[in-house]
Amino acid sequence: MTVEIGRGCTACGACLLTCGPRALSAGPRRPLVDDSRCTDCLACVEVCPADAVVPLAGVQR
Ligand code: SF4
Ligand code: SF4
Repeated sequence: MTVEIGRGCTACGACLLTCGPRALSAGPRRPLVDDSRCTDCLACVEVCPADAVVPLAGVQR
C-alpha cells in the first residue's frame, strides 16, 4: 500500500501538508514517498490539483 507521484506533479506541496503520517517529504522535483509510513488513506490523491498522485494499492511491486 502506497502511492506514486507521477510526472504531472507541479511541486505545489499540497500533499505534503495533507499527509498525516508524514509519508511524503519534499524531494528535488517531486515529493518522495516513504512506503513504510503510507497508510493508503488517499488524502493526497484527493488534494492533488494536478491529479499526479497514483494509488498503488493492489499493484504488484
Ligand atoms: S495515501 Fe495518505 S498516508 Fe499515503 S502518502 Fe498519501 S496522504 Fe500520506
Ligand atoms: S499535491 Fe500533487 S502537484 Fe502538489 S506536490 Fe503533491 S503530487 Fe505534486
